[in-house]
Amino acid sequence: MAERLKPVDVVTIGVGLTGSLMALELAKTGLKVVGIERGAPRYTVPDFQSPAIHDELRFSIRKGMMQDNMKEAVTFRNSSDETALPIRRWASFLPGTGLGGSFVHWNGQSFRFQAADFIYKTHIEQRYGKKILDPELTIQDWGVTYDELEPHFDRFEYLCGVSGKAGNIKGTIQRGGNPFEAPRAREYPTPPMKEPYFGALFRKGAGSLGYHPYPQPSANLSQPYTNPEGLALQQCVFCGFCERYACEHFAKASPQTIILPTLLKNSNYELRTNCQVVRINLDSSRKRATGVTYADAAGREFEQPANLVLITAFPLNNVRMLLLSGIGKPYDPKTGEGVVGRNYCYQTTGGATVFMDESININPFMASGANGTMIDDFGGDNFDHGPLGFIGGQYVGAIMTGGRPIEFHPTPPGTPNWGLKWKQAVARHYNHTVLVQQHGTSTASRLNYLDLVGIILVIGLTGWSVTARVVRSQVLSLKERMFVERGRMIGSSNMHILLRHIFPNAFPLIFANTILTVAISILSESVLAFLNLSVKNNVSWGRIIAEAYQHDALTIGMTEWIIVPGLCIVFLVFGFYLFGYALDEILNPRLRRR
Ligand SMILES: Cc1cc2nc3c(=O)[nH]c(=O)nc-3n(C[C@H](O)[C@H](O)[C@H](O)COP(=O)(O)OP(=O)(O)OC[C@H]3O[C@@H](n4cnc5c(N)ncnc54)[C@H](O)[C@@H]3O)c2cc1C
Ligand code: SF4
Repeated sequence: MAERLKPVDVVTIGVGLTGSLMALELAKTGLKVVGIERGAPRYTVPDFQSPAIHDELRFSIRKGMMQDNMKEAVTFRNSSDETALPIRRWASFLPGTGLGGSFVHWNGQSFRFQAADFIYKTHIEQRYGKKILDPELTIQDWGVTYDELEPHFDRFEYLCGVSGKAGNIKGTIQRGGNPFEAPRAREYPTPPMKEPYFGALFRKGAGSLGYHPYPQPSANLSQPYTNPEGLALQQCVFCGFCERYACEHFAKASPQTIILPTLLKNSNYELRTNCQVVRINLDSSRKRATGVTYADAAGREFEQPANLVLITAFPLNNVRMLLLSGIGKPYDPKTGEGVVGRNYCYQTTGGATVFMDESININPFMASGANGTMIDDFGGDNFDHGPLGFIGGQYVGAIMTGGRPIEFHPTPPGTPNWGLKWKQAVARHYNHTVLVQQHGTSTASRLNYLDLVGIILVIGLTGWSVTARVVRSQVLSLKERMFVERGRMIGSSNMHILLRHIFPNAFPLIFANTILTVAISILSESVLAFLNLSVKNNVSWGRIIAEAYQHDALTIGMTEWIIVPGLCIVFLVFGFYLFGYALDEILNPRLRRR
């Protein structure tokens, strides 16, 4: 039974970017706000300091700052008729966990949307006619315009201290900035970052082709800056460990640098870390949220009543929380009805690796998460799509986020994947390679959506069917037997026949089958646990195997963590099978030995 806590005005589910930002605004107005964060508390000092924070294996490869997909699995499928499989190692999405959320390990690339993005459907139809839109695309206007949001973009950039060069101030195109951007009220709060050599090369090439290069807007700061909350940020030192890492230098905007020090001093705010919200509670009409239920690290459940519940848990988790709490109508791709999970958009990225002459030294290890030179000539609807038959575009730029030792080994096509030749190629190209990247439009479409996959429920709902079929055939056969016929002839009621003749004869079979079902259930649970689809924090042999596998027990020689629970499952299941068959033999009259 959850312990009911004192009501507050607002509760945020998660304390990442949106959770801390909204709490900052609301607590200032006098509202009592509680932030509930599933991960641990962490701060620039001492948690983000080097050398520990530059651990590439821990943070970049093993995704040390991200949602543990052993505990909270996300499944993925390419189309609705495929079986959704759990993502075992994050390659995309990379949702954060811990105080500050993903906004701790983000890159800092700080773009605004274009004006046309807000009225995308209207804009495209007006420019090209309705026929250009594929019926599978579910794009629509947002219901809010760029002009309405411009002051908020501005405020956010000044909160973060974004470094950049304006391209359009109140309709006047600015030299050196992005001429395609929508009008902004004023310059960026800090000047652009120092241009890296690879950026300068790109600028020269793109400029000579008539394009419009500009410095990437970045929340890795070009110079010291104090934000409107009075919080001081420092200059980026291009440490090369930025995206997927926290900043040790107070140089990247994050809740820890731009929000939390002020927020935590506000007596209207209370932070609760290591607490996982499990559902949003609703009133009897199921139309109004009344608070949340969460579990702390010790597994104790609490109910936190609140007038306002803000779902600020990262897009994937926001949708999951809504669906788990039974809020809104889940999107159905077949009918197009429902909104929860609809129109999920992510990223469309690509790029080219440019191998340069040995005289051109790039120094890729000197980099930040957001420092490059780019062009927007092919972005959004900045060029005529009419004759091309598609919509959308991409920015293109020389963007390199760090030549870190494990991940950055550029080699030309045809190079072997290992051995001496591979080593020689890495040595030759490491310092002489430029990555040209593109980041494209991700357009809403009918079949791109988020939902809950209820595999446990499916097994629960369908698992009984085998036993039911066996029992049904036994009952059908008993029904035709002479003793049942005789009972009917002497006027016994159906209930009497059922209780006195059918049930006693079918019972041994039901009992033996139930024992076999236990064995099947143990196996099913183990498989689900291995796939990360069992109940979170459930201790089971399947989960032990899964965690051992995930943490590379096979390669580091700790195979006993896989073999021992594996054998336990085999022996237990086998034992239940033998027990079930033995019971069947003893209780089933047809199999009983004379
Ligand atoms: C590697 C990476 C690079 C990125 N780079 C950029 C970039 O360059 N530019 C850009 O614009 N955007 C970038 N992003 C995206 C940006 O970081 C996110 O859009 C932003 O952080 C989302 O804010 P949020 O508040 O929704 O989620 P988050 O900041 O992730 O915060 C969500 C918080 O909720 C917590 N939580 C989740 N579920 C629960 C629960 N049930 N109970 C309690 N707490 C819960 C999480 O632990 C987390 O702390 C990047 C993201 C990643 C992962
Ligand atoms: S590259 Fe700059 S902003 Fe990024 S983590 Fe290093 S010092 Fe901080």
